[in-house]
Amino acid sequence: MNTIEFYNDWKWQIANRISTLDQLEEYIALTREEQAAFEGEIPLSFAVTPHYASLLKNDALRKTVIPTDRENKVGTGELADPLGEEDHRATPHLIHTYPDKVLFLATTFCSTYCRYCTRSRMVGKPLEFDVSTFDETFQYIEEHTEIRDVLISGGDPLTMTDSVLDELLSRVRNIPHVRMVRIGSKVPVVLPQRITGELCSILRKHRVWLSLHFIHAAELSPETQTACRILSDHGIGMVSQTVLLKGVNDDTQSLIDLFYGLLEINVKPYYLLQCDPVQGSEHFRTSVEKGIELIQSLHGHICGLAVPQYVIDAPGGGGKVPILGKEQIRREGDDVVFLNYLGKEYRYPDPL
Ligand SMILES: *Cc1c(COP(=O)(O)O)cnc(C)c1O
Repeated sequence: MNTIEFYNDWKWQIANRISTLDQLEEYIALTREEQAAFEGEIPLSFAVTPHYASLLKNDALRKTVIPTDRENKVGTGELADPLGEEDHRATPHLIHTYPDKVLFLATTFCSTYCRYCTRSRMVGKPLEFDVSTFDETFQYIEEHTEIRDVLISGGDPLTMTDSVLDELLSRVRNIPHVRMVRIGSKVPVVLPQRITGELCSILRKHRVWLSLHFIHAAELSPETQTACRILSDHGIGMVSQTVLLKGVNDDTQSLIDLFYGLLEINVKPYYLLQCDPVQGSEHFRTSVEKGIELIQSLHGHICGLAVPQYVIDAPGGGGKVPILGKEQIRREGDDVVFLNYLGKEYRYPDPL
């Protein structure tokens, strides 16, 4: 097969994902620590698109998708389901944590798996549900007239086919009290070939906003910049959620480079998320104190539009809590303690 001819086809990119040690070694020479991960069972799903693999000469990106044996260590306070999503599962596909918004988990598939994924308990695993079970979820949203905002995520919904997405979005848009529809995706970054004119027309028709996942300026490849420009030209609103990751983007200059780079392609930096305490994530997590220092190094110093909100997603399902300064948190042993939007106390494990 002539690779060059097929490289720009998103289905080729998915069919040719790198998911074994041998395939990965064709792209990069692995360190001892990385090789060690492949000797045992890798606890989190592993796959990288050829496009994203071509960017892995960058050490920051490499850390976020190549497993290491450190994933096997479960740190203090780490959980399989740190956000308590299972306690708020309203249907097999729906997490209803907040008053007026719901999280619609449409697929467990991603083209590329992030090592710090908050949903690593389910992503890439055999389907616990499939499209045929969507009906119950539409019915729940129809019956709950307080729901105004539907965030479709997964897995990565933009890996679904145009016809499945069109059908799903039509059903959601047909519910009169739903005013906002968002899709959470990393596809423009890891699979930019997916952003076709046909896909953009579907997103535009259903007035969808995209909540994208960028972590580093090195992800702003020419292909990704083009994908975002095409989306923008179709009038699709885009924001980015960035997870704060130790040794990847936890310095002021990396954040400035990323956030300005995003503004240049019409993507508004929305959240800078404290990394969730998911099992095997200790090597990725910075202290909350460091997060506060970083966000304070941005406020006022750079374009206000380039500054996201620094948030801790309160473990146990308290929702996302914007953190502006040290006076908002207190330390109790290994935990940082703070109040959520309902004034209820939550704690984030942050061992000294
Ligand atoms: C993040 C999240 C949302 C969306 O929250 P916003 O702050 O409006 O972006 C909705 N439901 C769940 C369960 C979430 O984790």
